[in-house]
Parts: sequence; C-alpha cells; structure tokens
Amino acid sequence: PVRRREVLHLMNKSLPARVVSLLRDLGRVGDELELPVYAVGGFVRDLLLGNENDDIDVSVEGDGILFAETFAARMGYRVKSHEKFGTAVIVFPDGFKVDVASTRLEYYATPGALPTVERSSLKMDLYRRDFTINTLAIRLSGADFGMLFDYFGAYRDLQEKSIRVLHNLSFVEDPTRVFRAIRFEQRLGFQISRHTENLVKNAVKMGFLDKLGGKRLLNELVAIMKEREPVRAILRMSGLGLLRFIHPEIVLQAENLRVLDEVKKVTTWFDLLYLAETVEVWVVYFLALTTAISDDSFWGACTRLSVSEHYRERLIEMRIHGEQVLEVMERKVARGEDVRPSDIYFWLRGLTTEVLLYIMAKTRRDEVRKFVSLFVTRLRGVTTSITGDDLKRLGLPAGPRYREILDRILTARLNGEAASRDDELRIASGEIAAV
Ligand code: ATP
Repeated sequence: PVRRREVLHLMNKSLPARVVSLLRDLGRVGDELELPVYAVGGFVRDLLLGNENDDIDVSVEGDGILFAETFAARMGYRVKSHEKFGTAVIVFPDGFKVDVASTRLEYYATPGALPTVERSSLKMDLYRRDFTINTLAIRLSGADFGMLFDYFGAYRDLQEKSIRVLHNLSFVEDPTRVFRAIRFEQRLGFQISRHTENLVKNAVKMGFLDKLGGKRLLNELVAIMKEREPVRAILRMSGLGLLRFIHPEIVLQAENLRVLDEVKKVTTWFDLLYLAETVEVWVVYFLALTTAISDDSFWGACTRLSVSEHYRERLIEMRIHGEQVLEVMERKVARGEDVRPSDIYFWLRGLTTEVLLYIMAKTRRDEVRKFVSLFVTRLRGVTTSITGDDLKRLGLPAGPRYREILDRILTARLNGEAASRDDELRIASGEIAAV
C-alpha cells in the first residue's frame, strides 16, 4: 500500500538531512559487501506515524558484524561487536549510535536445550518481534532504497491504531510484552486489538506472569512510568489485573489514584523549574501507587521487583521518613501553629527530591504543598557565609558545638534574622561567649 516514492518523500520531509545521508551511506556499504541492509522496527514505525525517533536499528541479511565493522572503518567511527549475538553498535564521534543486527533464527532443538542460533531471512527475523507495528523494514541497499517491507500487516495496523501480536503464543514466549503492549497503546494513542487483549487475559489467568523475573518486570514498570501519561497505563494495568503481579495488595482506589494524578502535576511543576537536578520520576509514581500498603508489603513489592538490597533499604527508609515528616507538617497546619522557614528546612533536608515530590502529591493541605515548594525552590539553597574556620578564629574549642552554632546561624539566615556576614559573626560571638 505504501509505495517507495511515499517513503522517500516522508524521509526527506521528516528526517534531518544528516540522517537521510546516513541511511544512504549504510545502503552503499551494504552494496559494496553485497549484503541486503534494512532499517527496521520502531524507527520505521515512527517515521510512518510522523513521530521523532533517533534510535536507528539496522538489520543485515547475513553477517551484520562484518557490515558494521566495514561501515565504521570507512567512516572512521568506532564499533562494538557482540560475536555471540551477531550484533554491533556503531558509535559516532558525537555519541550518536546505530544498532546493527544480523537477521537470525533462534530455535530450541529439544525441549529445555539452549537455543540454536542460525542465520535467517528478514521475514523470519521480524516474526520474532513483539507487535506487528514493529515489524516494518525499509530497504537501504540495492537499487530500491526506500522500499517498504510489510510482511505482517503492520501498515494496516498503524492506520487502524491497533496493537497486535504476531501469534497466539507471543505472551507465553515473553510475558514482558504484556506491559510493552500497554506502553505502546498509551504512548501512541492506539488500542490493543480484541484478540490480543484476550491473549493478555489468558496469560494472566494461566499464571504466565508469575514466571516473569523481577528485574524484567521492574524494567517494564520503569519504562511505563517514564512515559508521558503513566496514570492511564496504570489504570489499564489495573483493568487487566496486572498490578497484583507487583504485589497482591496493590489495588487502585480513590486514594492512590488521587496521589498518582497529583504526581503528574507535581513532576510537571518540578520540570518547569529547570533545575540542573534530575529526578527519578518513576520512583515518585511508584511511591504513589503503593501509598496505601504497609511498610512490610512495600518491602515485599520491592523484593518482587528485585530492587537491589541497597536501594530497597534506602527506598523504604525514605518512605517512612517522608510519611513521618508529612504527618508532623499536617498536624502543625491543622492546629494553626506557627511554622518558620527554619522548621521547614530541618524537617525536609534529609529527604530525597523524589520523596519531597511524593509528599507534595500526597498532602491534601495547600499549606504543606507550599512548605515543600518553598524548600525546593529557595530554602534548601540557603547557606551560611561563615564556616567552621571562622568559629575557630573566634576561639571555639573543638567539639559538637561547631555543628550547633552553625545550625543556629543557618536558622537565623533562613528566618531572615541574619542578612550579612557581620550579622552571622555577631551571632557566633554571642553563642561562644554564652557558655
Ligand atoms: P522505544 O521508543 O520505547 O525505544 P522501540 O520500538 O524502539 O520503542 P525498544 O524497546 O527499543 O522499542 O525495542 C526495539 C525493537 O525490538 C522494537 O521495535 C521491538 O520490535 C523489539 N522488541 C523489544 N522488546 C521485545 C520483546 N520483548 N519481544 C519482541 N520484540 C521486542
């Protein structure tokens, strides 16, 4: 249905000129080696959809490593090869990368045996993919540069906005595809086809997802929570009964849904501050999703997801600490007690930014949200001008009082009671003399 002319037109219209000439160069090296070379997968999908995608995946019918190494040598680029998988990565001087794979066929000679890997045709190779929309290929070598190969009805599915697996055992073969289906559905605004959805439900019912390793499940969840609209994907997971594979007690109800929706607002707000700092947005979503379960269950969910022991401990400690601080702040506000900037500072300074954002999303009190926002935008950057060296010069003997006095001065700074270095020195002298 799509002719070569239209593909060429799309390329010239939507791709940067350097990408088009890169594709041509790849084709030329293919010609030289007499190897058929194709651009495949997400890159082609997004080209046809008009979405930007800088990840170029190339498939070679034949020796992909030879191809990648020859290409890199011609152009003076670096290349990293993985003999065992027949794959290579070409690394450009500016860090840009192209992944190269050899079309291959994996099969199991006997049940339980290691897979045998053999060369195969492009079509057989594409058949191993997750969804039809990812099976498109564009020919780069030969006279027909730009020719679209559509073996599995991908073009129709792109038009119908449909996510379809290639065969009925797809989710049995790889249960992570269940989560990938939801991620693509939400990202592209597509719909999982009715038959594919039935296969998902069947995989859930038959317990195939129990067999999914924690690391792989975590990777999929993180990928979903890094998308633009994670909440919709989480709703979809809930609808398909997938949340219980993280932990049986995780269910969507009014409370965690409210917090999840707030996370979207709060992280958007944080983004717009344009701070140099990056946050792990998925952690904030994960804290929101699990907000109603006990600490023990939270620990259980992290264990199921094979979160490293070190990070798991840190996460749970942060969660507990965050909840405690939240409670203190809400109580103060409820009682109408006076809160000084220094109070906010010392409550919040031990928390990671992820937990700060989680608290902002969770609280129902505007005042508390404002406390955290004040901390993030202003208070946490406040420092004293004087240091321990100044205290030493003023004759303070070594000991814990250094910390106390510096905190006392920081408090004055935060509350606007010290505006200059002289103010700080005066406070320091007073404190030292007071003993
Ligand atoms: P993204 O923009 O998220 O990177 P993508 O389509 O490039 O989208 P990747 O996760 O980078 O997706 O995977 C690259 C290609 O590898 C996909 O187009 C897909 O067809 C294939 N693929 C990835 N994971 C699987 C899987 N679990 N099973 C089958 N094919 C997969």
